[in-house]
Amino acid sequence: MTSKTYHLGIIGHPLGHTLSPQLQTAFLKQAGLSGIYEVWDTVPEDLPEMIKTLKQHAIDGFNVTIPYKTRIMPLLDEIDPLAKAIGAVNTVVISSKGLQGFNTDCDGFWDSLPPSLQQNIVGSKVILLGAGGAARAVGAAMIRGGAQSLVLVARNLDQAAQTRAVLNACAALLSENPPKISLLPYQAFDGSQCGAIINTTPVGMSGDLLAMPLTLSQIRSLPDSAWVIDLIYKPHPTQFLKLAQAQGYATLDGLGMLLHQGALAFTHWTGVTLPQTCMDNIFRQFA
Ligand code: NAP
Repeated sequence: MTSKTYHLGIIGHPLGHTLSPQLQTAFLKQAGLSGIYEVWDTVPEDLPEMIKTLKQHAIDGFNVTIPYKTRIMPLLDEIDPLAKAIGAVNTVVISSKGLQGFNTDCDGFWDSLPPSLQQNIVGSKVILLGAGGAARAVGAAMIRGGAQSLVLVARNLDQAAQTRAVLNACAALLSENPPKISLLPYQAFDGSQCGAIINTTPVGMSGDLLAMPLTLSQIRSLPDSAWVIDLIYKPHPTQFLKLAQAQGYATLDGLGMLLHQGALAFTHWTGVTLPQTCMDNIFRQFA
């Protein structure tokens, strides 16, 4: 009997800090599958050639990260409707059908939320700090989850307007009752009646550990029941979450999203959905 060895990897540039190899290796182990997961750091001019090479070398699939989540789309044979609407692909499956692109950030974010937080989202106002790629996936998750309104707080309101247009297109796919989406500069921040606030900027990542996307008084303007969420998973937790916790808010960092978007990619490649106990084991390894 021959057992399959999965050949997987990640494309991006630069890729020095990625946790995906450890994560996907842990998924393979928990699932009892054999496979390797490689890091393919690829400079922009080599991207089209690299994709051709992967297609020719019996690779089963790969993750796509910064700066190629959008740039890879014209190089694929098929794109899942949600990934197309979000305008970003983070997972590619290679099969006899060719190269198929998916976005697992949206569902991965939603799956990472505790049930009480998912409940909190329904009918509530959700504030996103930042309006880049992650804000699109997370905004789509909030639309699917039933948020009543979304506020994009950004320093670049032109970029935020483009993200709003993308999210309105996602809403047509995801919701019969789409939320109202508004834009706000940081100076006009208004935390009132907010059910959840999500930092989708890189502010507070290693390099500037004390940086925060909001001031303490802006954090304090949130209702006591608001959840404060940061997509950053290193440091764990960020200064933003530490201060929010100290004010008594419920908080969540980005480690769960990292795990769940990876687990959904793993399912696309292998057909295996890892049970919750396996996910809990892996979460403990990375926490
Ligand atoms: P991106 O596309 O570059 O977007 C970043 C956004 O943050 C942009 O709107 C940018 O605005 C804003 N921003 C950057 N620096 C800022 C500052 N100093 N003050 C205010 N706004 C600022 O990046 P991304 O792909 O969305 O990723 C954003 C963060 O999410 C990263 O930290 C990434 O690691 C994290 N992330 C985590 C996961 C996970 O699994 N946990 C998944 C995806 C992303 P400007 O255009 O004005 O610069």
